Amino acid sequence: MGCTKVSPACDGCYAEALMDKRYGKVQWGGERKRTGASTWHDPVRWQRHAEKDGDRPFVFCASLADIFDNQVPPEWRADAFAVMRATPSLVYLLLTKRPQNIVKLSDAAGGLPANAALGTTVEDQKRADINLPALEGARIETNPLFTFGSFEPLLGPVIIPPAFMPDWIITGGETDQGGHKARPTHPDWFRDLRDQAAAAGSAYHHKQNGEWVSVSEVAGPGAHYTFPDGATVRRIGKKLSGRTVDGIEHNAFPTFANMETHHA
Ligand code: SF4
Repeated sequence: MGCTKVSPACDGCYAEALMDKRYGKVQWGGERKRTGASTWHDPVRWQRHAEKDGDRPFVFCASLADIFDNQVPPEWRADAFAVMRATPSLVYLLLTKRPQNIVKLSDAAGGLPANAALGTTVEDQKRADINLPALEGARIETNPLFTFGSFEPLLGPVIIPPAFMPDWIITGGETDQGGHKARPTHPDWFRDLRDQAAAAGSAYHHKQNGEWVSVSEVAGPGAHYTFPDGATVRRIGKKLSGRTVDGIEHNAFPTFANMETHHA
C-alpha cells in the first residue's frame, strides 16, 4: 500500500482516496506498507480454483500501489514474484506508471515470472511517447505473456507509434475520487484508439466511460462540457454513463501462449 504521484493520471488516484484519505492506513508519498498475510495468501486459493476449473484467470496485481515503484523495499517485490511463480495458472497483470523501472527491478527480483503480463498507463500523447517505448523495451528484455496499454483515465488524444503498439488496448474515462472531480474525455479519443487497435490487430477493451459521456451515447440531463471542436459530453455519473462506444461494448482479451479459457 502506498505510492507517490508521478503523472497527471495520478491526480485522481483511487488507491490514495481509499487507503490514505478514507481509511488513513498509509500516507501518500510517505512510507509504503505491506498488506496482511491473508491478502498474500489469496492467490494460492485462486490457483486451486483455476486448476480445478482448468482456466487462466486474470489477476490485477497491487491495486493499492505501483508494482514497479522503486521506493517499495525490493524484498517485497521478490516475495510477490515468488507468489506469482507458485501460482502458474493465474495471469498477473502488472500495470505501472514507471515502465522505465521494469527491467532493473524485475532482474533484482529474480526475473519476471513467466505468467506475468506487462502494462503501462497512457493518459495522453506525452505518456505515449515516454511509456510505450519503455514498455516495448521491457517486453524485449523480460518476455512477458503479452503487453497492454491502459488508456485510463484518457485525458487527451493519443496516436500510438506502430512500433510500440501493445497487444491489448484498454480505454476508460475518469471517475470522481474523493475531492477529485473527473475530467471529461472527448469521444473521439476513445474512437481513435478503438480504430488504431483494430488496424493493428490488437485486442480492444473499453472498460467504462467515467462520469462523462457523449451526448450522442446516452440521453438524459446533466452538466455539459463542450470541447473546442464542438463535441459535447454530459456529466451523468459513472453508473449511467455505461461502457459503450458508439453503442457497442468492447470486451476483447488478448491471446497468449498456453492460454486456455480466462475470466476477467
Ligand atoms: S502510480 Fe498509481 S498508485 Fe501510484 S499515485 Fe499514481 S495512480 Fe496512484
